[in-house]
Amino acid sequence: VSKEVKDYKIAHPNAKVVSLGIGDVSFPICEHVKNKMKEACDNQASANYVGYGNYYGLLELRQAIKENEYPDFSVDEIYVSDGTKTDSIDILEMFDVNARIAIYAPLYPIYVNGSYCVNRKFETKDQKDILKEHFDIVYLCNPNNPTGYAFTYDELKVWVDYALKNNAVIIYDNVYFKFINSPNTVKSIYEIAGSKKCAIELRSFSKHVSFTGIRCSYYVIPNELYPNINEYWKLRTLNRFNGASYIAQIGALASFDAPAQKVINKNITYYLKNAHYLRENFIKMGYEVIGGTDAPYLWIKCKEMNSWETFRYFLKELNVVVIPGSIFSLDGYFRVSSLGKYEDIVLAIERIMRYEESK
Ligand code: PLP
Repeated sequence: VSKEVKDYKIAHPNAKVVSLGIGDVSFPICEHVKNKMKEACDNQASANYVGYGNYYGLLELRQAIKENEYPDFSVDEIYVSDGTKTDSIDILEMFDVNARIAIYAPLYPIYVNGSYCVNRKFETKDQKDILKEHFDIVYLCNPNNPTGYAFTYDELKVWVDYALKNNAVIIYDNVYFKFINSPNTVKSIYEIAGSKKCAIELRSFSKHVSFTGIRCSYYVIPNELYPNINEYWKLRTLNRFNGASYIAQIGALASFDAPAQKVINKNITYYLKNAHYLRENFIKMGYEVIGGTDAPYLWIKCKEMNSWETFRYFLKELNVVVIPGSIFSLDGYFRVSSLGKYEDIVLAIERIMRYEESK
């Protein structure tokens, strides 16, 4: 996608291309977090220099994560790392090479490509097909990238019950948890009874703290998990990881302070407002739309063309970038994102609307 967009822009330098394809965030890190990271940087250039730290994450940061998000867990069950992209695949090191892995589609492509990189066998399937068979590991992304859909309590409970029955482990990618706000949805899988026995939850500072370039993530491996891997995972981690950047971790710690939380909530509200605008307008134009209420993504059914054709038509005729569904293992849909600027989103919608009206 980026190559085609880049080539198009080079060939048409006057085209004002706007992107609904953005997976990165639009806002910079907030002042409070920046100031704390600056102090940490000054510290590193002084006699107070901090060298190798705790492999599992700064204790103060893990304590803050526990207090703010995981009061029912001990800090020993919480790990800090440098990104959920890495974490979601690294965790496979703890499981047998022949473990049967199911990836719930449509899916974040990293689960597939990452599994290839570490030479694991996996199957991409939809929910009803996974539930019919036995798998050892199931990847779930909630709220989902690309569909922007967030499970209700009852829908997620089906997965937890399946995992408990099959002794399966759910690798639960929860990086967009801050966007969840509808009634009957769940922010964390641990709100479902029994899930501590079967779920590893992954979160990141990337999206809500604008840490996509700073890099810091965290995850929970409950002591109750079957199999109990914490002791081995700690051994693995100290041998394979020297910890996340000290400065990034100080910034992540500062993100729990009130001035940072205020900005985070304001930014999430902004992205959700964009999503609402996109949702309303695509529906108005007669598209079938999923998501956009509890996530920064919307999953839209193509009309006349397949997803690559839609992508190319929108790029060349409307100068609007959308992401073809095929990239996420499901053709017939495209993904749009609300992580861009409101003005650009309005412009993109105007162009698509004009096209729809001219048909
Ligand atoms: N998981 C999902 C579902 C994502 O959409 C992304 C980034 O777009 C990531 C993980 C990557 O997160 P991180 O920046 O923490 O590596």
